[in-house]
Amino acid sequence: MPETMRAIIKPRPGSGLEMTTVPIPKIGPRDVLVKVRATSICGTDVHIYKWDAWAASRIKPPLIIGHEFCGDVVEVGSAVRSIRVGDFVSADSHRYDGTCPVCRKGQPHICANLEIFGVDTDGCFAEYVALPESSAWVNDPGLDPAIASIQDPCGNAVYAVLVEPVAGQSVAIWGDGPTGLFAVGVARAAGASLVAHIGKYPQRLAIGKAMGADLSIDISQPGVDVVRTLLQATQGVGVDVVVEMTGNPRAVTEAFAAVRKGGRFSAFGIPSQPITVDLNNQVIFKGVTIYGINGRQLWQSWYQMAGLFRSGALNVLPVITHQIKLDEFQRGFDLMTAPDRVAAKIVMYP
Ligand SMILES: [Zn+2]
Ligand SMILES: [Zn+2]
Repeated sequence: MPETMRAIIKPRPGSGLEMTTVPIPKIGPRDVLVKVRATSICGTDVHIYKWDAWAASRIKPPLIIGHEFCGDVVEVGSAVRSIRVGDFVSADSHRYDGTCPVCRKGQPHICANLEIFGVDTDGCFAEYVALPESSAWVNDPGLDPAIASIQDPCGNAVYAVLVEPVAGQSVAIWGDGPTGLFAVGVARAAGASLVAHIGKYPQRLAIGKAMGADLSIDISQPGVDVVRTLLQATQGVGVDVVVEMTGNPRAVTEAFAAVRKGGRFSAFGIPSQPITVDLNNQVIFKGVTIYGINGRQLWQSWYQMAGLFRSGALNVLPVITHQIKLDEFQRGFDLMTAPDRVAAKIVMYP
């Protein structure tokens, strides 16, 4: 066992990241040590890379970043019971204490003392990563490592779409980032009668089609009326389920206008400012149910996701546009920040 490893760190406040050599983390009695097989770049990592206002307020360098990964367990702590050396694992990035009232009421994904892996603690853009047994998820041994690495964001999509069943229902999804694209696939796999996808980048909308969208609405085209298009597609009734994954005020307004009376609104996109909602007409009189979606339902979303992969109904490979070496991380971040948005999910191999 080597003593040191390569890792990508935010060395100090400011933009950029560095590849460096650091000690392999030591594990406590309730932790496991994982040799990383694959890791993927998230929008959160891009915020940290750019060092925007959110990153400056939250991140305390030096920090190993990254929170989406899979790998093989090489060591387990003395108190670990459910994980063995050799298990192929991923992890949920939301670390919970298990003891606060929110956790004890069965909602650990929004723990009162929540910490996010790779944001508040050292992450996985490295050769090895230590994590608590309580955060680990054991994958099917044959799962493609590229797919196993993207389960944290795919699990967001599973939670957002399947917080209530969608079989036989019309579903509209705003957002052509990776989570929106995964959501299209989840809605299709779970038997939605109509999957409408709203985005603004042609290449992304094409991936949405590959994921199973019946109807793509490109808001970059002049004269596009998203609400009217969705009403026409649902005989004027409105959509049963709307899933908002952009946080854009225009999209939020459209989603409230397009959801049918008695329908469901899954709110996942994060607006940069507080936004206005007409509570009377858009929620109360319409009888709309709103779910705030943060993280993944632990561990229901993971079981559902594993089941969708096993069934063959959900193929996420169209969303994984690039597979590169961890050493090429700079190219990965250049692709993630390119204005053309050709890259969706980028998987890196240490
Ligand atoms: Zn992520
Ligand atoms: Zn808690």
